Amino acid sequence: MMENAVENVVIIGSGPAGYTAAIYAGRANLKPLMFEGQQAGGVPGGQLMTTTEVENFPGFPEGITGPELMVRMKAQAARWGAELHTEDVVSVDLSQRPFVVTSTDRTVRANSIIIATGATAKRLGLPSETQYWNSGMSACAICDGASPLFKNAPLVIIGGGDTAAEEAVYLTKYGTHVHMLVRGDKLRASKAMQDRVLNNPKITVHWNTEAVDVFGESGFLTGVKVRDRLTQETRDISAKGLFYAIGHSPNTGIFKGQLDLDETGYIVPQIGTVKTNVEGVYAAGDVQDHEYRQAITAAGTGCAAALLAERYLSMNGLEIEFHQAENTGAIAEESKPEAKAETKTETKVVTTSANFDVTATRYVGGFALRKLYHETDRLIMVKYSSPTCGPCHSLSPILSKVVDEFDGRMHYIEIDVTEDPEIAESAGVVGTPTIQFFKNKDKVAELMGVKPKSLYRETIETYV
Ligand SMILES: Cc1cc2nc3c(=O)[nH]c(=O)nc-3n(C[C@H](O)[C@H](O)[C@H](O)COP(=O)(O)OP(=O)(O)OC[C@H]3O[C@@H](n4cnc5c(N)ncnc54)[C@H](O)[C@@H]3O)c2cc1C
Repeated sequence: MMENAVENVVIIGSGPAGYTAAIYAGRANLKPLMFEGQQAGGVPGGQLMTTTEVENFPGFPEGITGPELMVRMKAQAARWGAELHTEDVVSVDLSQRPFVVTSTDRTVRANSIIIATGATAKRLGLPSETQYWNSGMSACAICDGASPLFKNAPLVIIGGGDTAAEEAVYLTKYGTHVHMLVRGDKLRASKAMQDRVLNNPKITVHWNTEAVDVFGESGFLTGVKVRDRLTQETRDISAKGLFYAIGHSPNTGIFKGQLDLDETGYIVPQIGTVKTNVEGVYAAGDVQDHEYRQAITAAGTGCAAALLAERYLSMNGLEIEFHQAENTGAIAEESKPEAKAETKTETKVVTTSANFDVTATRYVGGFALRKLYHETDRLIMVKYSSPTCGPCHSLSPILSKVVDEFDGRMHYIEIDVTEDPEIAESAGVVGTPTIQFFKNKDKVAELMGVKPKSLYRETIETYV
């Protein structure tokens, strides 16, 4: 559906670049409209939703988790009036003015656009990759490493940069041993990260080594076939998990043919600015930066893009001012970091025999699942998540809204796989977030990763 009004500025992407642009444009009374993304090119909140501690973002001397930082940025954007839609943009038309931006749910017109679509984890495309993807293979150790499948098992990680090093160390918390495959004879990671890897007795670095395929049994990965790049000899490494940490590709597919891109797909801004070759269109963050790729540089360019967009709108007489309501200074209840972060598990009351109520809708923990499995004929929806899984945090408010629509007609149980590993294991959970649906003791559906809200709603409607 085409919305009638013309937006001052549409921001595409909700990482540090997008939210910073939204904060600046909001404070300039431009009422920015943001498409946060849903599945295309990552998750709402961007790449930091997939990491644990962020220790180099100024202002947090004690560090902050990636998901919490992003929830705070989102709250700040919402506080200044940004209109946020958790939808993927599927096409843009930069050949007409106003520009036209189409998402999965709506089409809007915009006088200026800020592109902040970031970058996506690369895959190697091994011959058997599709067969074992999500059954032992993942591109996010931080999201999936805590799954029961990987507990006390040998694991492999591929890559030699900072992400690979960080994730290798992280995986030692769960696996018996971590094999790190490095194509060359040195790590590209920072010196500090190299030291942490090389001094860790649970990590073996295999130099000059590349993966050629994976293999498994009963549908699950059991090993990786590797080749020594110097001798060409191949051998097998037993492993229940294989994690890619081999870099990212910029999310620029929808801009091809409309904007100047370099040979690897990055947007090429005019030298020293964030202006693209189309006037009124700006690019911020990792989508235009293969040099620094940091949250703070993404935020900095997001700021620059918003300032330039404001200047462009006012110089061309296109700016429509939206004055902030008097109470804008207060953070709306639902936008408060603590309300949305859901990183603070202590705010959730675990269901026990003392507080269990078979007529309730929402529960927390494995006890509720064991009880309801035998005692209810309502549909049971179970969300398996882990505290370090950013996409799980993104999914929480989406699921929460859908569950509200079916209040009293279904049960919703949240299970932390690190608290209830046996339940997750017996349910065959191999990554988080995983959503399973049970009806009359049968598993009737399963959805892995973050899916469109409509899919959860449709699945519930089918079985409720
Ligand atoms: C594991 C890991 C750890 C890291 N640790 C640190 C750290 O400690 N410190 C640091 O400074 N940096 C760190 N980084 C790097 C940092 O995360 C990135 O530099 C930063 O997130 C880039 O921000 P961005 O806004 O450009 O894009 P991203 O964070 O990549 O966000 C892109 C956004 O665009 C959205 N999107 C994509 N396509 C579409 C579409 N078609 N429609 C709508 N939305 C779309 C996505 O959903 C996402 O919200 C880390 C990265 C990783 C992967």
